[in-house]
Amino acid sequence: MSLLSLVALTGALLALVPAAWCCRAHRASGRGEPAAPRQSFDLELLEALPCPVFYKDADGHYVGCNAAFAEFLGRPRDRIVGRSVFEVAPRELAERYAAADAALVAAAGVQRYEVQVESADGVRRDVEMHKGTVRGTHGAVTGIVGVILDITDRKRAQREVLELKAQLERGVAERTAQLEASNAALSAAKDAAESANRAKSIFLANMSHELRTPLNAVIGFAQILERDEALPDDKRRQIAAINRSGGHLLALINNVLEISRIEAGRMELHHDAFDLGMVLDAAEEIIRIRTEAKALSFVVERPSGLPSFVVGDATYLRQVLLNLLGNAVKFTEQGGIVLRVADEGGERLRFEVCDTGPGIAQEEQENIFQGFYQTEAGVAKGEGTGLGLAISREIVHLMGGGLELTSAPGAGSVFAFSIPLPLAATVPEMRAGTRIARLAAGQAAPRILVAEDLEDNQEVVRQLLQGIGCEVEIAPNGHEALARFRAWRPDLILMDIRMPEMDGFQATRLIRALPEGRTLPIVALTASAFEEDRREILAAGCDDLVSKPVDYEHLLTVIGARLGLRYERVPLARSPVAREPGGDLAGLPHTVRDALAMAAEALDGEAARDIAERLRHEHPAEATLIVWLVDSFRFEHLEALCRAPAGG
Ligand code: ADP
Repeated sequence: MSLLSLVALTGALLALVPAAWCCRAHRASGRGEPAAPRQSFDLELLEALPCPVFYKDADGHYVGCNAAFAEFLGRPRDRIVGRSVFEVAPRELAERYAAADAALVAAAGVQRYEVQVESADGVRRDVEMHKGTVRGTHGAVTGIVGVILDITDRKRAQREVLELKAQLERGVAERTAQLEASNAALSAAKDAAESANRAKSIFLANMSHELRTPLNAVIGFAQILERDEALPDDKRRQIAAINRSGGHLLALINNVLEISRIEAGRMELHHDAFDLGMVLDAAEEIIRIRTEAKALSFVVERPSGLPSFVVGDATYLRQVLLNLLGNAVKFTEQGGIVLRVADEGGERLRFEVCDTGPGIAQEEQENIFQGFYQTEAGVAKGEGTGLGLAISREIVHLMGGGLELTSAPGAGSVFAFSIPLPLAATVPEMRAGTRIARLAAGQAAPRILVAEDLEDNQEVVRQLLQGIGCEVEIAPNGHEALARFRAWRPDLILMDIRMPEMDGFQATRLIRALPEGRTLPIVALTASAFEEDRREILAAGCDDLVSKPVDYEHLLTVIGARLGLRYERVPLARSPVAREPGGDLAGLPHTVRDALAMAAEALDGEAARDIAERLRHEHPAEATLIVWLVDSFRFEHLEALCRAPAGG
């Protein structure tokens, strides 16, 4: 029987018990009427009930009880009936019962409470007392009926549940504390890693600033010299080598910086309208020089319906294409390269770079996208950093695509990606295959103030701008820039940002504060790699920003756009290409190869050339290769060939 139904039954019994026992009591005392059949049925039911039931008069003397109650007290019924609670229960309990009875009689209702008792068999039990008053014909309380429910099992279960709950709560508290501790450790580790990463990024950006600044002069002068069509071929080749090595160094700096930017989640794209054809032309031009040098075929497949001007990040697209094409040329010795561009519809273009090179094994295909990973073929080349593909994949991802590789050993490789490149609404003025030669006739020479502290860089910009017909003045710091601005009234200022005494930020703000400086075009020149710096530069009042090392074609385009200049253009002159002789140095004695490797490491061209001349008689092919490598400044390659295992 469930506890609830027992309690319900008890309620019903409270109504029946008094009449039944009263009769029995009266019969026992010889005063009552004989029991009616219904009442005796009620009595039998009470007798059969498994829970103790009793009836007391208003003074607290037992009038009757069932067998279960007698068993509960461990005494026969005749030693219960007629006695008070003090005679049947231990004193302490009896006092409690008597007090409860008194309160019940006063309240004339029902009562429920729990007590612990020791039953006749000596076991401690939890019981629940249900008592109710009985009223006589005039409404006065004449007695109390009680039912006792043994709730020991329920109490034990409750205690167990409570204990379990407490255990659970203790467990949760312990686990929470552990989690909090490990979270705190994790977040401390994360903070430490983040701050280390920040420190690394700042260090790299600062270092790259220091490297880019002198490179500006190296590449700048080389660019100016390359424009000189009167130079003999051998000089042009040397200048091309300066440009290539400078460009290589710059690419390395940029790669290391780029990967740290990616790691710090700070890489950002800049979407502008650009001439897709021009980007493809530029990539084709650079790569064709290299494929010609290696006698590889190079085909660029561009369907005629390709959009001309699209919106996207031209710099990064160019970087990815050059990286993939550069790898294709680097690793392919026979056959050729194909760059395929296709319109996929939905304003997406697909780019594929296919080569007939060695191919890449399945197990290496995922690894080559990890930073600093090179396959054996890559390591043997002795070039590269293993960063190119990691960066390219990240850039393609940022541009809204994925870089895929299909390759198998011996079957060449295809690197492909598709990115959104929507049609441009406005068309910027750019022309492929040509370079700016001078200002078109009929325009007054624009006056350009160059604020720049380093003499070499001052000279590069002066020569370039004067070369196309501008008037140029130089200010070595912000103070001077302000003074020259007032005295000379330039049409445009090229403002270096880091300068002694007064930097470019402050000078720009001061000039902007002057009425005559409000609309003056100011173009910042910066070697900073920080996106925040770029924003700050524009916020300080600069109209445009050109990165160092300066791409002079780009700088002239920016100046032209700001001042509404027209330029005269001439076709781009290609650097003469010398074909790589091929072969290796494995057949040379190892002492010679060691000496050559040392010379290459020290960039000592003369020593390497001396060695080559001494070898020429016995090893003519190797001597030619060494001289070619030295003349084209490929010291890294020379060193790698010397250090390659002999005979392999
Ligand atoms: P890097 O060229 O500077 O070594 P990359 O990240 O561009 O770095 O390339 C990583 C490696 O992937 C290369 O060293 C080379 O082992 C392999 N790899 C890349 N492109 C090709 C290719 N077209 N054919 C064969 N192997 C390639």
